[in-house]
Amino acid sequence: MTETFDIAIVGAGITGCAIARQLARYDLSICVVEAANDISLGASKANGGLVHAGYDPAPGTVKAQVNARGCELYGTWAQELGFLFRRTGSMVLGFNSEDRAHLEQLRCNGHVNGVPELSIVGPDRIHELEPRASADATCALWCPSTGFVDPFEVAIAALENAVANGVTFMRSAPVEAIEVANQGAEAVRFTLTTPAGDVRCRYLINAAGNGAADISHMAGAEEFQMVWRQGNIVVLDKEPRTLMPLYPVPTPVSKGVIVTGTVHGNTVITATAAIREPGDTQTYAGDVNALLTGARKLVPDLDTRRVVRAFAGGRPVIKGTNEFFIGQSTVVPGLFQAVGIQSPGVASAPAIAEHMEQVMREAGVELRERADWNPIRRAPDDFDRAPLARKEELIESDPAWGQIVCRCETVPEAEIVAAIRRHPGAVSVEGVKRRCRAGMGRCQSGFCQSRVVAIMARELDCEPSEVLLEDAGSWLVEGPLKGVR
Ligand SMILES: Cc1cc2nc3c(=O)[nH]c(=O)nc-3n(C[C@H](O)[C@H](O)[C@H](O)COP(=O)(O)OP(=O)(O)OC[C@H]3O[C@@H](n4cnc5c(N)ncnc54)[C@H](O)[C@@H]3O)c2cc1C
Repeated sequence: MTETFDIAIVGAGITGCAIARQLARYDLSICVVEAANDISLGASKANGGLVHAGYDPAPGTVKAQVNARGCELYGTWAQELGFLFRRTGSMVLGFNSEDRAHLEQLRCNGHVNGVPELSIVGPDRIHELEPRASADATCALWCPSTGFVDPFEVAIAALENAVANGVTFMRSAPVEAIEVANQGAEAVRFTLTTPAGDVRCRYLINAAGNGAADISHMAGAEEFQMVWRQGNIVVLDKEPRTLMPLYPVPTPVSKGVIVTGTVHGNTVITATAAIREPGDTQTYAGDVNALLTGARKLVPDLDTRRVVRAFAGGRPVIKGTNEFFIGQSTVVPGLFQAVGIQSPGVASAPAIAEHMEQVMREAGVELRERADWNPIRRAPDDFDRAPLARKEELIESDPAWGQIVCRCETVPEAEIVAAIRRHPGAVSVEGVKRRCRAGMGRCQSGFCQSRVVAIMARELDCEPSEVLLEDAGSWLVEGPLKGVR
């Protein structure tokens, strides 16, 4: 089967989803083509979730521009799309005069990049802002605009909103070949071959993360050489008070080991940076130790025995540069590239989308606003966070709201069902987890996984043995589950 669209976006990571949401306001048919069976299975599922403010990219770069603007846009995006975002502010801690000189440099960079209200503060103010910050810190760069999100919640929310506005989501559709016809600007120029069917389009947007160089190559465009800059991350159990993000002085390629709270009250230590084989998502004992050591330097009383999870992801880096490549291909007109979206791709996503729109407009793509575009996504009910009166109302409406399946995160059956039934809905146990946190807590799904499998089998009308943990082939059980069918 072949379908034809004005625009095809390859990749449903945070970049592709943000671009889809940005362009959904125009009178265009758009398809997001994703290799995996769900949203956000690439770098966008394995990162620190920090909305960095934008003081460290080199001034004058595209990265500096979209980072600072992206951080600014997050307030509006969170409001319209109903995802959790906390703008807590952050500190880069310095421990000596050399660090202080670095902080001054960062402050100047930030000023040029348009980051608001940066200042250097001393020990008393450090303690006032974050009482758990190391007492050895003699100075810090205080940045009130830094925040954090759940990165997959942002991608899911953006694509849900795009789909509600008419965008098509094609999952399990790895692009295997691209044919480019040499015709006029108005013609259908690209044919993408995927196992789920072919997609024809006038304009192609490459937001394929670590697969972006392959997409560019398939289209006969720029030959990018990519590097997989791997990072390990650890998650600690919830704390009574959420920590403000604390950074060390950065290195030339990395922001260093950062300690931060999360929107759900956990603590995250993020991230190492090492060049590894493409696709390597293993965690390494050496990396995890480096994270714990680095974290204790910033927060000496951090109880690092409270780790509940360690994971790894790969930053898509263009070899030899730290810069993002966002623009129309200079080789293949009609192909728009978002390549090398390494860190801070999460922080920059709303602005990358805005920037891409501008690039397309300048390239002559006709963007006519639709009268019926709705920027608002109604977030699903979050039982754990709901006030008591709302909890009672939900249970009254359906007793499945009172059936708690995930005890660590207080996720009832009805919330899991809603995660499966949304558009686009979850098709795997991990997809459920990313949407409503069932299995995300301290027991890491030891208690609830079999119950989630049973609910999925019922909702998807399949056998438990067909239910996937994550992507194709990741079945969890061999036979029937006790008490199910
Ligand atoms: C350890 C680590 C920590 C990080 N921490 C932060 C942070 O705190 N803050 C921050 O701002 N950034 C952070 N980043 C960077 C951030 O995660 C990335 O910049 C961002 O997620 C990139 O998103 P993306 O959508 O461009 O790529 P991805 O999320 O990788 O999405 C690309 C998508 O394209 C799909 N795809 C690939 N090839 C094909 C194909 N042939 N056909 C169809 N689909 C295809 C993939 O399946 C994937 O879903 C971190 C990254 C790492 C690895």
